[in-house]
Amino acid sequence: MIPFLDLKKINLRHEEAILNSVHKVLHSGWYILGEEVKAFESEFAEYCGTKFALGVANGLDALELIIRGYDIGPGDEVIVPSNTYIASILSISANGATPVLVEPDILTYNIDPAKIEESITTRTKAILVVHLYGQACNMEPINKIAEKYNLKVIEDCAQAHGAIYAERKVGNLGNAAAFSFYPGKNLGALGDAGAITTNDEILFRNLQALRNYGSHKKYENLFKGYNSRLDELQAPILSAKLKCLDQDNERRRNIASYYLNNINNEHIILPYVEENTESHVWHVFVVRISSRSNFIEYMTQQGVQTMIHYPIPPHKQEAYKEWNDLSFPISEQIHSEIISLPISPVMDMEDVKRVVEVVNEYKPY
Ligand SMILES: *Cc1c(COP(=O)(O)O)cnc(C)c1O
Repeated sequence: MIPFLDLKKINLRHEEAILNSVHKVLHSGWYILGEEVKAFESEFAEYCGTKFALGVANGLDALELIIRGYDIGPGDEVIVPSNTYIASILSISANGATPVLVEPDILTYNIDPAKIEESITTRTKAILVVHLYGQACNMEPINKIAEKYNLKVIEDCAQAHGAIYAERKVGNLGNAAAFSFYPGKNLGALGDAGAITTNDEILFRNLQALRNYGSHKKYENLFKGYNSRLDELQAPILSAKLKCLDQDNERRRNIASYYLNNINNEHIILPYVEENTESHVWHVFVVRISSRSNFIEYMTQQGVQTMIHYPIPPHKQEAYKEWNDLSFPISEQIHSEIISLPISPVMDMEDVKRVVEVVNEYKPY
């Protein structure tokens, strides 16, 4: 079986650094918000090109904290793509604000900038963009709209660590950005972890307190805060893996370009790519096919594991019953046709070629 993603193989490349990290933290005697978290935060800010980075417990918390930090809550609206992973939307709901779903562009699967303005009301406070599947959104028109209506731009970078748009890294393209280091992401920890990047010093100072019970100073609480801290033990592991991120993304790009150049099955719609290849870090390689369940069965028989990112659109989820009757035809089409092929920095060329062969031989039956 060609696995969709071999996480063990990915992490065993760093075995020595990981064991050293555990040893170092164990012997430091300091286990929460210590030197390791501080070091990773400054390395990650430098990597993204932002003034600040803040380690938090996971990607959802990163988003939720940013929204809270901007005082967006009940009565406020936040624009968000209708085809994102549910966490982007949950972060808005968790703050009591109203998510306003906007359809994606059928080519890039990212939010369609041309559809944003018609969804803005007097209650709109922010646009939450998601660099879905690893491809940076078309930020120029989005930032123009945000400026015109005085909205915050929040980036969900959970799938796009290291992607570059107009010579700037994601995480440095709006007011604040959320990253997830869930194990399967392009930069993954050995458990839950996340970060926020921003150039906004006031937001950063408030979030520093908010992630730690609302406290800047031990036992003094400015806000009704959270406990959402990056683990001291995950931080040095992330520092070690961050050094390989660009190289890993380059490997993903090579596999993606092999797929793009060699898959030629008339039933398969390949992903669209911008001219600037750096704008995509290929968190997943998503193709579309109308006979999806048939295709999955065939791929499994041929020994290739596939996945769907994601099978149910957010507005059709039980958790959002109030939206179940709404219609987002582009999202619905995407969710019913997409399928992700294996891609990872540790996938060998033989397996990549085998996937191409199998996909090219597919005929709907
Ligand atoms: C993974 C992911 C998240 C959530 O990150 P967690 O660390 O699992 O909380 C949010 N948004 C998107 C787009 C994601 O892919």
